[in-house]
Amino acid sequence: MRLNKLFLTGSNRVASASLIIGLLAMVLMPVAQTAETKLDGDRISTRDGDLTIHPINHATFVMAWKDKTIYVDPVGGGKRFDGLPKPDLILVTDIHGDHLDAGTLEAIGGSATIVAPAAVAEKLPEKLQTTVLANGESKSVAGISVEAVPMYNLTADRLKFHNKGRGNGYVVTLGGKRVYISGDTEDIPEMRALKKIDVAFVCMNLPYTMTVEQAAGAVREFKPKIVYPYHYRGSDTEKFKQLVGNDSSVEVRLRDWYK
Ligand code: ZN
Repeated sequence: MRLNKLFLTGSNRVASASLIIGLLAMVLMPVAQTAETKLDGDRISTRDGDLTIHPINHATFVMAWKDKTIYVDPVGGGKRFDGLPKPDLILVTDIHGDHLDAGTLEAIGGSATIVAPAAVAEKLPEKLQTTVLANGESKSVAGISVEAVPMYNLTADRLKFHNKGRGNGYVVTLGGKRVYISGDTEDIPEMRALKKIDVAFVCMNLPYTMTVEQAAGAVREFKPKIVYPYHYRGSDTEKFKQLVGNDSSVEVRLRDWYK
């Protein structure tokens, strides 16, 4: 009754209207929020909105750009991703447990498209939508340009970990920014030859991938604007930063991937 009176009384019309608009805004706001605004982390501006970087653990992280959310090597169970925007695109680099876990993918996948190399796709249940890319192939997936690039070991006693052609690193383009995700690799010629990378995620750890010296050597050559060491368990990332040096014009961002 009191509400009816509010609507009917001329002097209160303005107050009622603003109350209704306020309530509508509260109801609609969560829908209007983009993935970008819901994810906390480093923000990097692109020509079309910010790219947000959100480390999770070791090789696992989440990126948001506009209304798109990208998960990289999600493992560790669905609960780990509670409260984060749902993925539109999931990139999986390789078959090892720190990169691939079918249970986690089933828990979080929803309508996301998974991009993976064939060796990974073979291990996934059919119901998960998977786009297979081999090294060197590119495709626009969920509106995002994705290029698969090589990742492999070079050193004799490490060849057993990652043979050439099985796994994928990726270069994704978001608002004109080129983002490189190394996967598990050493300082291969294909990494050293990368061009125009704005943001790079570069692995380092022994015995599986490479030393901080190798990683810094490659970074000094392909010169990303920003580099995040990731997948660095047991490595001296401060030393990596020192070796990349101030003269290289590369910004090294050290973040805690092992909270
Ligand atoms: Zn790994």
